[in-house]
Amino acid sequence: MQIRKLRTAVVEANYDWTYVRLETDRGLSGLGECFFAPGLTAILRDLEPALVGEDPRDIGRLFRKLQRAASGAGSVAGIVYNAISGIEAALWDLAGKALGAPVWQLLGGRYRTHVRIYADCHAGLGLESCGPILQPREPAWYRAAAAETGDNGLSPEAHARRARQAVDGGFDALKFDLDCEAAAADESHRLLTNAELERMVGRVAAVRAAIGPDVDLALDCHWRYRLADVVRIAHECEPFNLLWLEDPLPPQSAASLRALCETTRTPLSTGENLYLAHGFRELIESQSVQIVAPDLQKVGGLAEGRRIAEQAELYDLVVAPHCIASPIGTMAAVHLCASIPNFLALEFHGQDVPFWDDIATGFDKPLIRDGSIQVPEGPGLGIELNEGAARRFAKAGEGWFE
Ligand code: MG
Repeated sequence: MQIRKLRTAVVEANYDWTYVRLETDRGLSGLGECFFAPGLTAILRDLEPALVGEDPRDIGRLFRKLQRAASGAGSVAGIVYNAISGIEAALWDLAGKALGAPVWQLLGGRYRTHVRIYADCHAGLGLESCGPILQPREPAWYRAAAAETGDNGLSPEAHARRARQAVDGGFDALKFDLDCEAAAADESHRLLTNAELERMVGRVAAVRAAIGPDVDLALDCHWRYRLADVVRIAHECEPFNLLWLEDPLPPQSAASLRALCETTRTPLSTGENLYLAHGFRELIESQSVQIVAPDLQKVGGLAEGRRIAEQAELYDLVVAPHCIASPIGTMAAVHLCASIPNFLALEFHGQDVPFWDDIATGFDKPLIRDGSIQVPEGPGLGIELNEGAARRFAKAGEGWFE
């Protein structure tokens, strides 16, 4: 079996859902999803010559071939790995289809039949759509959904309402953003005022009161604050018994994370902006966080995710993958989550995308039921794009699997 062609398509959703399809001489094709990035489909097309004529079942070797091919453009990190991660998932999809086995089986078998999903809620409102450099945009579906909302979503009441809705929808683990207020006058100093901290804690208290003690709650800082301030945040959050506090400090700040970790009983998480197993090594070996959060559409792929999980297991850490993908990338992540012992929960970032479920087929809708996704039994990733439905939201200026 040989790869003949690489094709791409982009759906303009809350982010750019970027798909890569590999077609073979046997009529089989494999589909993967990449984390968004500027110029991503051009990178994917530039990688095609390294794949044409290759056997897609040689996943590890092809990963290294792509890595070598792109070494001048980013051998250790960067958006070329967003492209490679999508390609790698498409290779697993193809290998599974060729062998008649689900990807989780190729990854060593499963530990669970259902993968726990946590709902990212953002703030009191979560509706957004952003381009590849996070500039806000308003596609038609967004304008229609935004017309139905009024509140700015920052009040404790709005946070409580949104938390309750997610729990009513079956989720038993939620995440809210702590840094949802507009940046201070001088954004560069990243300092937290007493008033801001007080409002932050008020929102968290409202959410905890709304969901009770038994629903898990995580909070995200998006690398916004300085060590002295996140020490205060982590301390103030201790009474709320968080599942984790995410990205309190920049990802390269392993020493600061370690210092924070020693001051608080609030568990810490980071990883969505790290690449490859090597990118996680110092963090894991220094046990600077309790939870690692690789993004499987970005970190290098499912095999790299597995290496990270195994490394984390050696240090008694658990894995809660970051995920902002459509059902395609989410399902790729589900296969990895099913096949590692130290899995905690997988992110769902699509609560406010009205067509999230509609663009894929191969499962009973909704994909997420009672806060989990059933691990598929079919070959490959066990999910396909519903091209008719997805193409309605195709991004202008991008080809559609051409
Ligand atoms: Mg995050």
